[in-house]
Amino acid sequence: MSENQRILVTRSSMPPLQEYIDEISSLWDSHWLTNMGVEHQKLEASLKERLGVENIALFTNGHNALECILEALDLPEQGEVITTPFTFASTTHAIVRKNLVPVFADVKIEDFTLDPQSIESLITPRTVAIVPVHVYGLPCDVEAIQQIADRYGLKVIYDAAHAFNVKLGGRNIATFGDASMFSFHATKVFNTIEGGAVCFKDSSLYPVLNHWKNFGIVGPERVVYSGGNAKMNEFCAAMGVCNLRHLDDEIAKRKMVSERYWTNLSGLPGVRTFQPSAGVEYNYAYLPVTFDPDLFGASRDEVFEALAKNDIGARKYFYPLVSDYERYRSVYASERTPVAQRAANTVLTLPLYADLTIENVDRICSIVKSCAR
Ligand SMILES: *Cc1c(COP(=O)(O)O)cnc(C)c1O
Repeated sequence: MSENQRILVTRSSMPPLQEYIDEISSLWDSHWLTNMGVEHQKLEASLKERLGVENIALFTNGHNALECILEALDLPEQGEVITTPFTFASTTHAIVRKNLVPVFADVKIEDFTLDPQSIESLITPRTVAIVPVHVYGLPCDVEAIQQIADRYGLKVIYDAAHAFNVKLGGRNIATFGDASMFSFHATKVFNTIEGGAVCFKDSSLYPVLNHWKNFGIVGPERVVYSGGNAKMNEFCAAMGVCNLRHLDDEIAKRKMVSERYWTNLSGLPGVRTFQPSAGVEYNYAYLPVTFDPDLFGASRDEVFEALAKNDIGARKYFYPLVSDYERYRSVYASERTPVAQRAANTVLTLPLYADLTIENVDRICSIVKSCAR
């Protein structure tokens, strides 16, 4: 009973076992397990079609995809990159590890994505790029961001780790900016166990990215970049090939779960849910909720504790802000991004996955409601 009752914040999607076995069985004939094999090619082609993009490169994970695109774009060392502190560690770490300097802009109150007005005020002659994040799969203000980038000659690289399969005005989110990174980590809407990809505008970057992810090796006797190893293997690619077949079904189930939460939690004073605006075809990646303690009568942390007591794993996603990490806080003050700071202090993501039952959603919501004073 108690095992049944325990609910984690997410649960990885997996294809039927036999389908996966069928997909990988040819590997026992070929003995070709990595380095751009058959499954890798198959997944790359399927994703191109699915996302409606001309250029995509696969990686061992989303983080390495982001590092590699920053390398491939050849941004000047110590250039400033305007980004958001309301994100996962990966976004900022990738910038820092590529010898660029993160500059944190604030986010919009509506959806916690990067605020275009905040971006513009931080541009200096050293600014080289903008790295916004489609947080929770909610699209950034891509038009305003592109206008700023065009005006100042900046590259735009989206961290689209949460936004796989999202569309805006009928156009896939992968087609905006100079490049978009996707994560196919086990916890994401679409997974390859571990994996990631980058979609990009300039097709001449394809070989460059492939070299960067394979030690900078260009030919049998030619090594041109000090690249790392970030290749997706055949077993991960095969998992992606299978999971992609079930994606529409998974998203439809996530939609039902999300809508039940939104209905249950609507109208509660001090409680805000995040529904995509008109024109967005959403992927139902996360279920963020904010709690205003003055209006709701309980803080985010109190709700978190109440759920934990009932064996329900919510997540403070994202808390703390990246600019408040031990690694960064001596350099950055989160007071400079007050909206992001408030977001980090009030947000909780509730359990969401395709097979979460409506009964369990109702149970989670009644525990949340019982916190109100
Ligand atoms: C998951 C995630 C990443 C990193 O992706 P991995 O595939 O785990 O390397 C980067 N940014 C954000 C916002 C993420 O959620």
